[in-house]
Amino acid sequence: MPAPVNSIRPRAVDGWPARLARSLWRARCPLCREPAAGDGLCAPCARALPWLGPACPRCAAPLAPGDGTGPACGACLRRPPPFGLALAAFRYGFPLDRLLPRFKFHRDLACGRLLAQWMLPACAQAPRPDALVPLPLHPARLRERGYDQALELARPLARGLALPLRADLLRRVRATAPQSRLDAPARRRNVRGAFRAAGTGAMPRHVALVDDVMTTGATLAEAARALRRAGADRVDAWVCARVP
Ligand SMILES: [Zn+2]
Ligand SMILES: [Zn+2]
Repeated sequence: MPAPVNSIRPRAVDGWPARLARSLWRARCPLCREPAAGDGLCAPCARALPWLGPACPRCAAPLAPGDGTGPACGACLRRPPPFGLALAAFRYGFPLDRLLPRFKFHRDLACGRLLAQWMLPACAQAPRPDALVPLPLHPARLRERGYDQALELARPLARGLALPLRADLLRRVRATAPQSRLDAPARRRNVRGAFRAAGTGAMPRHVALVDDVMTTGATLAEAARALRRAGADRVDAWVCARVP
C-alpha cells in the first residue's frame, strides 16, 4: 500500500553538492551578474529602474514637478499627435539604455520578456483597445535581424491582457534611414509614407501600437495615421521607454 502523501518527507537538499549546484545555477542579474531577485534584476539594479512618473497623456513626455497633469503638454497642445494616448513604463536612461539595446540588437529575448512584464501594469490600466499592433520592421530589416523587437514585446502583452495580437494590420512599405541622427522635422519627413494598413476584414475601432522606445514619436505617429486612414477611430501608443 502506498504511504499517505503527507507522510512523504522532502529529501535533504542542503548538502554541499546541492548548495554548490544552486549557487552555480542561480539566476544572475543581466546587468551586473550578481544573484537576481524577484523581477530578474538584483535588488540594487531593480531600485535604479527609472519608472516614468507624471507624464503628458498624449505623448508620454515626462512632466517637470509642478507642471500638473493637464490634458496635454505644450508641444501636444500646439501640434496634437494622432494618438489618443501614449504611455511608457520608463524614462529612457540607466539601466534601460543597456537592457533595450541588448534586446533590440543582440537577440536577448529573455530581456524582452522582462521588459514586457514591466510594461504590463501601465498597459492594464490604460483604456482597453480592441487589438494590439506591433510597430512593424521593414521586411529587409527583419531578415537581417531575425526577429521583430516590437512583436516580441506585443506578444506577452497580448497574452497578459487577453487581447488580440494583429501583426497583420500594418506593413512597413518603405525602408527608412535610421532616425537617430535626425532632428524632429527631418524625422517626420524620413518616415512619411513608410506604413500601409493591411490585413483582411474590418479595421478594429481602437488599436494600441506597441514599440520599444519613443523619441520624438514621429514613427509611431506616421503608423497611427496609416491605421486611422484605414478606419481605426482611435490609435494609442504603448512603449517601454520614453526618451525625455
Ligand atoms: Zn544587478
Ligand atoms: Zn505631450
